[in-house]
Amino acid sequence: MSEGNGLAMGELKAPKRRHIVLASHPSRSGLKGGPVQWGHGDPAQRGAIVATVTDPNHRNAIGTHSGSYSVYRALAVASGVLDPDHKPDFTNTAPTIAIGPHPSWADPEKIVSLDPFGALVGEVYASLLTEGIDLRPTIAVTRAHIQMPELLEAVRQGRIKEDGEIVKPGGDLVVTKAAVEPVWHLPGVAQRLGVSEDDLRYALFEQTGGMFPELVTRPDVKVFLPPIGGITVYIIGDLATITDPARPLAVRVHDECNGSDVFGSDICTCRPYLVHGLEECIATAQQGGAGLIVYFRKEGRALGEVTKFLVYNARKRQVGGDRADAYFARTECVAGVQDVRFQELMPDVLHWLGVTRIDRFVSMSDMKYNALVRSGIEIVERVPIPDELVPPDARVEIEAKKAAGYYTDQVAPTEEDLAQIKGRGLEQS
Ligand SMILES: [Zn+2]
Repeated sequence: MSEGNGLAMGELKAPKRRHIVLASHPSRSGLKGGPVQWGHGDPAQRGAIVATVTDPNHRNAIGTHSGSYSVYRALAVASGVLDPDHKPDFTNTAPTIAIGPHPSWADPEKIVSLDPFGALVGEVYASLLTEGIDLRPTIAVTRAHIQMPELLEAVRQGRIKEDGEIVKPGGDLVVTKAAVEPVWHLPGVAQRLGVSEDDLRYALFEQTGGMFPELVTRPDVKVFLPPIGGITVYIIGDLATITDPARPLAVRVHDECNGSDVFGSDICTCRPYLVHGLEECIATAQQGGAGLIVYFRKEGRALGEVTKFLVYNARKRQVGGDRADAYFARTECVAGVQDVRFQELMPDVLHWLGVTRIDRFVSMSDMKYNALVRSGIEIVERVPIPDELVPPDARVEIEAKKAAGYYTDQVAPTEEDLAQIKGRGLEQS
């Protein structure tokens, strides 16, 4: 029937329907997957997180693996191309470098939004896997070479040196990268946000359209794998130097901005700042330390790209045009809030890596800075984006942010200054 997509309709298997087991009420025998003692330093005592759907009786967590991709998995199952009972073969999938354990892994309050043992499932829970418990890693670690035109240009201009190890001849950057899925300990997340666990559970239940009834019916299940984007960490240099106080560490914490990061849109400073962060990481690694780019998949201040584009139009069509003094107001009138990124959970990934001090923090965000310092990480120096890297249309955003408290090594603009800083109109090309 259909040609070219490799999925002729006639070949589809009917989806396999299984007996639905509602996990909305506690079973008499308690949690079959075993209790989770969040923050216990011994993985056996902490307990494995069982969030797979192949055997509902083993589950001890709400939600499931792969974040938002669990919905695509559902489409594959519904259309008969994926056996819902498929158990993965993890041969040769282990991390390419050892990470941890660090003292933070044994502190229930230091890490609340990821599983520190998430990359080691195949190792620390090998016996459970042998018993047939369907566990899945929530962290994967691999190696890569990065080629970015800006970095190649920096090599050409002599700002980045080819050392043969971190930067290969020809300009390839050698990195280790880790993909991290969210695993939330609900009491800890509630505590970070300063709300009750009940209020958090109710809001999550209601705002996902009642997607996870156990949030409100199973207060005994404390772990939730939310259907959201994860984190990618790019590690430059030797990871082992992170815990050595004599070695420098550079860090950029970056929230996804598809328009700028990938497509080079000039309305914000995201990609130029990201690349500057990479340059700082390379320089610090070449000084015998390491650099980290932590990339969060939360687009448009976690409001999403539709809201983001609506705000762009509202900014550019308002009376007086796109102005720095009205920058935050336009976001707030569309979204009801200026920002929902909640940097309170952001430091967890750095604690997973054993970070206790950042020598060069490549970010101007006061929210990120405050969250890191509150979590016990020392920040020695903050690195603003160099002025020459700010695209003209992005002046509106960067100056509004400086006036609102973002770090700058210059004098922050006044309200009067902001009213003068204007962006391009929608009709201007
Ligand atoms: Zn951006």
